[in-house]
Amino acid sequence: MSQIEEEKVLDAFSKGVGILVIQEELSCLESDISRILIKYKEKNRQKNSFSDDFKKLIAERDMHNVPRKTIATELRINVATVSKACKQFGQKTKGRVSSYNLYSEIVGINNLKRCPNCNSEKVNRIESLVRNFNTSGIFCMDCGNEYFELKGKFYHINFEYID
Ligand SMILES: [Zn+2]
Repeated sequence: MSQIEEEKVLDAFSKGVGILVIQEELSCLESDISRILIKYKEKNRQKNSFSDDFKKLIAERDMHNVPRKTIATELRINVATVSKACKQFGQKTKGRVSSYNLYSEIVGINNLKRCPNCNSEKVNRIESLVRNFNTSGIFCMDCGNEYFELKGKFYHINFEYID
C-alpha cells in the first residue's frame, strides 16, 4: 500500500472508524490494514514502551468509544498498555455510553445454554430491554459476563462502558 493509503488508515483508525469500514472505504484487505498498524507500532516501539505519537493514536481511538479490548487486539498489545496510553493522553476512565459499542456480536454460537466466554453451564436467564426490544439473555455465574439474543443474533454486553 502507498504512503498516502497508510496515512488514511492511521487517520481513520484514530477517528474510531471500525476496521471493516476502513477496509471497505479503501477497498483493501483486513490483513493490509493489520500490516499497516503493526508496522506503525514497530516503528514507534521504544525500549520499554512506545512513542508518544503511538500512545496518542491509541488514546484518540479510545475517545471515539472503541472498546479498549478491541484496540488491544487490533494493535496486538495488551489492554494494560492501552489503558496506560489513554491515561496519559486521553480519557482517564471509560465513562461515556455509546450504543454503537455497547454490544458486540458473538458469532459461531447457536444458543446461550452455555456461557460463550467460559463455557460454563451456570448461567441465569435474564430479561432485558435493549433499544426498546425485549430480549432474553443470560448472566454467567462463573465469569460475570452477560449476553443476549436479538433477532437470531447473539451479543455480548460490554460492561466496560457502563459506569
Ligand atoms: Zn462465563
